[in-house]
Amino acid sequence: MRDSRQWFAEAERLMPGGVNSPVRAFGAVGGEPFFVRSARGAHLEDVEGNHLIDYVGTWGPAILGHAPEVVVRAIERTAAGGTSFGIPHPGEVEMARFLCGKVPSMEKVRMCNSGTEATMSAIRLARGFTGRDKIVKFAGCYHGHADCLLVKSGSGALTFGSPDSEGVPVSFTSDTIVLPFNDADAIRAAYAVNKGRIAAVILEPIPANCGLILPREGFLELLREITAREGTLLIFDEVMTGFRLELGGVQGRYGIRPDLSCFGKIIGGGLPVGAFGGRAEIMDRLAPLGGVYQAGTLSGNPLAMAAGLAVLRELDGNGHYRRLEERGAQLEAGLAEAARKANQAVRIHRTGSMFCLFFTSRKVSDLEDARAADGRRFARFFRNMLREGVYLAPSPFETHFLSTAHGEEDIERTVRAAHRAMRNLDG
Ligand code: PLP
Repeated sequence: MRDSRQWFAEAERLMPGGVNSPVRAFGAVGGEPFFVRSARGAHLEDVEGNHLIDYVGTWGPAILGHAPEVVVRAIERTAAGGTSFGIPHPGEVEMARFLCGKVPSMEKVRMCNSGTEATMSAIRLARGFTGRDKIVKFAGCYHGHADCLLVKSGSGALTFGSPDSEGVPVSFTSDTIVLPFNDADAIRAAYAVNKGRIAAVILEPIPANCGLILPREGFLELLREITAREGTLLIFDEVMTGFRLELGGVQGRYGIRPDLSCFGKIIGGGLPVGAFGGRAEIMDRLAPLGGVYQAGTLSGNPLAMAAGLAVLRELDGNGHYRRLEERGAQLEAGLAEAARKANQAVRIHRTGSMFCLFFTSRKVSDLEDARAADGRRFARFFRNMLREGVYLAPSPFETHFLSTAHGEEDIERTVRAAHRAMRNLDG
């Protein structure tokens, strides 16, 4: 039987970097990825038969853990009746009803196949609706890999962005303005220079792609106020946070109604999915009603609708979020104690079932602060934890996730592993 190393050797010959998505290659933490045979609950089993406690949860979707019975049953039942129709079916309407019922700002929604598609389409729609070209994004917020959103930090409020990837023409990102997160002055300055030209401000309301960053008090409210005043659409990218912290999105927690919102991950129950929606007046500018084109062969796929609805209905009213908060707090306390005992300067950011560790003593409130943390120390911690049978996200800039399947014992084992892993970071 082949081991992970052998699988990876063949994968590298056949696939760029041996993977279908870059972070999976472990570039940020060193070593090679392990290959998964199966996953159940909070655990992964690799092809060698080792069991790992999983805090990646397939990058967010697995909030009920892996292969929850409700999801597996829903997929089996649905698949027996056909895996794709390419014509309307009731599952799409049920999904739309659920999302519009739970997300306060969402009057209408369109399903697509990934978070990338959702944000890319929301931007096009915002530009079509406002008749403006410029967009504002924040450094460290990841919105998938559409050309105009692949712009990193470094560009100030008053300058044009620059491409973050080869193959993206500069002209494709010249209308993207990149600002530091949590910086009220920067957003005011951007409007002073670009008055009447900004179609949309897009952000992760709780950024989770440069570690986990929390919005400063009043920052989201300020964005809502300025965008409303300036005729700009406010887009919340809740691909990561949607239904992760509570039913709906972060917008419910803060009582803010963005004009458009993007979802993905959890709402597909582990199958490929994305969604964007918002005010009916804006959404009705999409084809076939309006002139903004957006389409998809597999959009509203019956398997994805069934799997997603199974997860969402399970999350609705069963006390899961309260338990996730309790488990999260328990894990946070245990990790903090492990760091303290080992004399490691670590800042743990957590909200509900999302958390990350910055190896720094400095306060972290934007991408620059996150970059200043010690990534090499994180990489050693990651590798030590992996040896202990705990799989964290393989990058210092990713967020880790708990699921409802993580039990008391998983947390205790993780904390014990962290005590040992923290003690061995200097070697
Ligand atoms: N938006 C956010 C906030 C994300 O975290 C991600 C992916 O991690 C995306 C968009 C892109 O989603 P996908 O990978 O499904 O294209």
